[in-house]
Amino acid sequence: MGRIIYYVVFILVFSISLAGLKGLDHFIAKQVIVRDAQILTDKFQRLLQDSAKKLDELPDISLATFDCNDNLASQLKRTVFEANFIRWLGVTKNNVIYCESNEIIREIASVKTHRVSQNYSLGVVELSNSTHHELVLVKHVNDMFYTASIIPLEPSYFVPVDCDNCLEYKMSFDSDPFLTFGFDEYDGVNFVSEEVTLSSPYFNAKFELSGSYDFYKQYSTISWFVIILIASAFAGWVTYLYFRWQQHSISAYRQILIGVKKEEFIPYYQPIVDSRSKEVVGCEVLMRWQRADGSLMPPNQFIPYAEANGLIIPMTKSLLVHLVNDIQLLGQHKPAMFFSVNIVPEHLESDELLTLVKSYIDDKVFGHHRLSLEITERMPIKDLEKARVMLDKFYAMGVDLKLDDAGTGYGGFSYVQKLGMSTLKIDKMFVDTIGQIDTFNAKTIDAIISFSEKSGLTTIAEGVEHQSQVDYLAQQGVYLIQGYVYSKPLPAEQFFN
Ligand code: C2E
Ligand code: CA
Ligand code: CA
Repeated sequence: MGRIIYYVVFILVFSISLAGLKGLDHFIAKQVIVRDAQILTDKFQRLLQDSAKKLDELPDISLATFDCNDNLASQLKRTVFEANFIRWLGVTKNNVIYCESNEIIREIASVKTHRVSQNYSLGVVELSNSTHHELVLVKHVNDMFYTASIIPLEPSYFVPVDCDNCLEYKMSFDSDPFLTFGFDEYDGVNFVSEEVTLSSPYFNAKFELSGSYDFYKQYSTISWFVIILIASAFAGWVTYLYFRWQQHSISAYRQILIGVKKEEFIPYYQPIVDSRSKEVVGCEVLMRWQRADGSLMPPNQFIPYAEANGLIIPMTKSLLVHLVNDIQLLGQHKPAMFFSVNIVPEHLESDELLTLVKSYIDDKVFGHHRLSLEITERMPIKDLEKARVMLDKFYAMGVDLKLDDAGTGYGGFSYVQKLGMSTLKIDKMFVDTIGQIDTFNAKTIDAIISFSEKSGLTTIAEGVEHQSQVDYLAQQGVYLIQGYVYSKPLPAEQFFN
């Protein structure tokens, strides 16, 4: 059963990713053809430039003095041999061939050309002895022409193609002629296509690369593969994270439960001192997790998790068991004081804590000391009326309530009014502002003190670290001090001694 959830998570994430990535499929095929079209256009331009450069090396000619001597004929031959893209080269005028590079006789039926630069034209030649058309680059020299037949531009020579007759490359100028290359048997149904335009003073040309469905499918299949790979990897990763999170939660939960069972949650005690007499009037009971390996874990590492996962109730109960033990063992003959225990709103929603505390009080386990509860203003109390009913039962047993972290959270005024508390604890955040001039918080501490006084509450200042803060607070009528200035939280033995 436990494992099924991981399969479900995997399949769910996988399906969602697959659907999400599907859109990428077409996009990738389109990107490929965009890239190929650009490559082809670049290659084609380079091809023309290279060929033109070769033709520029040929000698000057004119009809009046023209002589197809051996010298020129072998020069034409060499050019064809050396130029990558020229397969035939001739000297022509008005469809007449005056000299040519090889013996395969070409008979020109017609030539259609298009000027591409000052001295050059691009054209299509129809041959009388063949049904094929040839692409030619023509150099104008005086009144004659060097006409070079360009090797057909097979798109598959330049870009990787795995499919048959699936790609077509078409070139057209703003007027005739149309020059088209491609597979002879290209089926002519474009599935994807991309157009690149080139402009020069002589022409505007469009180069269009089109792929049939086979071409599209070739990339589409690759991208499917990639998509499945990505989706699997992503789903695997999410499932792993989910697994880790589950493991962590389960083990954190279990570890705390085991900790409770082994009574590893122990109290540290931080004195609360009257700054006038320097006497300890009470203390805050602060939880620590003493692990089996001897390490001591501070509350910020486990309390938030425990509070969020319903574990704080058994932990507080376990803490109280320790507290009672400590008092009975070490605190019997110490001056009377209060022990302030932190609770959360959840403690007021059931009878559990009340029942335990009542049994302690009935058994007089605290002796001449008093138990006190602290509730933080940072957590909202859902039902104040219900909480008050519960609190009244504590008050009836002599257990009072302190408002912790006053000024930082939700309740403030309404908590004080509705919950019937005895004491307000000023948060360290405000104590820290003592000595600072004119900040908002600096004024807030005076307002909190004045509010506490007017509400008839006792005030405790928390997180007091310096004598100057003690002095300032005394001036404001606050004498009960909790903080490092007097002591850090201490283990039981040290505290009681
Ligand atoms: P808190 O209730 O506001 O407790 C006061 C915290 O301020 C304590 O931290 C204390 O050690 C620290 N503190 C006191 N004086 C000074 C000072 O002068 N300087 C500085 N820097 N810190 C000072 P601690 O013990 O680490 O506890 C942290 C929080 O964990 C507590 O804040 C409380 O919210 C929670 N916590 C501790 N024990 C329990 C518990 O048993 N139950 C619940 N629900 N929460 C607890
Ligand atoms: Ca507290
Ligand atoms: Ca506090």
